Amino acid sequence: MLRTPLSRRAFLGAAAFTTLRAAERLPNFVFILADDLGYGDLGCFGSKDLRTPVLDQMAADGVKLTSFYAAPVCTPSRTSIMTGCYPIRVGLGNGVLFPYSKTGISSEETTISQLLKARGYATAIIGKWHLGHQEKFLPQQHGFDYHFGTPYSNDMNRNHYKTPEFIAPPLPLLRNGELIEQDPNQAELTRRYAEESVAFMKRNKEKPFFLYITPNMPHLPLAASDKFRGKSKRGIYGDAVEELDWGVGEILRGIRELGLEKDTLVFFTSDNGPAQVAKPDNGSAGPLRGRKASTWEGGMREPTIARWPGTIPAGTVRSEITSTMDVLPTLAKLAGAAKPKSRIDGVDIFPVLEGKVGAKPPRDTFYYYSVDRLQAVRNGKWKLHVDRPDLKQEGLPLLYDLEADIGETTNVAGGNPEVVGRLQKIAEIARQDLGDLATGVKGNGIRPVGTL
Ligand code: MG
Repeated sequence: MLRTPLSRRAFLGAAAFTTLRAAERLPNFVFILADDLGYGDLGCFGSKDLRTPVLDQMAADGVKLTSFYAAPVCTPSRTSIMTGCYPIRVGLGNGVLFPYSKTGISSEETTISQLLKARGYATAIIGKWHLGHQEKFLPQQHGFDYHFGTPYSNDMNRNHYKTPEFIAPPLPLLRNGELIEQDPNQAELTRRYAEESVAFMKRNKEKPFFLYITPNMPHLPLAASDKFRGKSKRGIYGDAVEELDWGVGEILRGIRELGLEKDTLVFFTSDNGPAQVAKPDNGSAGPLRGRKASTWEGGMREPTIARWPGTIPAGTVRSEITSTMDVLPTLAKLAGAAKPKSRIDGVDIFPVLEGKVGAKPPRDTFYYYSVDRLQAVRNGKWKLHVDRPDLKQEGLPLLYDLEADIGETTNVAGGNPEVVGRLQKIAEIARQDLGDLATGVKGNGIRPVGTL
């Protein structure tokens, strides 16, 4: 009987200590980036056939961002996350890197991992990197303590990109720059990445951590483990997405078991829209027009969720323009980290995540670049296409009201000459600053890509 109050006092003491530590502790960041997942592939973004209960719950517990933009393909999107810049500004906007590439992220650029590491964070990337596979471009040279995963996309092995001049090696699986496997079984990667992620959090639970998780799925070639293969309603694509959802569940469980839920901002998005494959079992951009590699909304608008219990209000939806470039300034500010030494394009979107946006949202404009061509600009609800090599016959410019017409079906340029003129001026500002291959303008504000 005497033991009960003592135990209770000891318990209360421990609780008070935990609270104090929580208040002093810098937040953890877990940023999960799916590869080629479509805007319409999650239940919480309207999918009627794929089962994504974990991500649906994550959206119910946090905020859904419905106008979050990446770039149209892998390398540029990953560049914008790491640097807070339009990929073209730092020389990585012109398509993706390949196993024969000799360029990568410049050592002159400041990455989010470097800023957080300098603030005392443990930093890891678990999954695909794709900002250069030569030694000087690998994650450990750019602010990461730990990397487990592939240097580039999962289709870049000896079966692909075979040319008379170059035959790619088998797909490398790296641990801290060391080749540990060749052509790993891709059906096991989602599970292995989840396990590696949880192990990293356990190893680093005493200090703040930045865990950047970049699964290879659902990028081609698709794969799923026995537990998931053949179980979805959309073939191997659906199997891979449902396993990815399970993997996110394992990571969230890891956070919960470490007692870090209220200390951890978890972010989920994709690097670009769904790939175009001639099969029914592929990704869905939902109501959006276009797919991966295009500057239609379906190529660049991503299904995005952020969760931070006690900080981000549950069950909220925000439609302000946000982007992968905004990750760096947002996380850096939350961590009290320094600013990058060079100019960036991202803005702090924490007011959007928290639902405390004033009269003026943090970002009102976004430029849609593809292979260094400026193809469209968005300002508020308006999107103007200024370069459409895929669709010249419709006549340019094309203006869409994305609030009324998310699928970009009805060109309203004719009835809105003032809006067209205003957005054309914005496009010209972008060209002068960042350049534009479509019009041959060289940007004043671009910096060189990393070279060997
Ligand atoms: Mg991708």
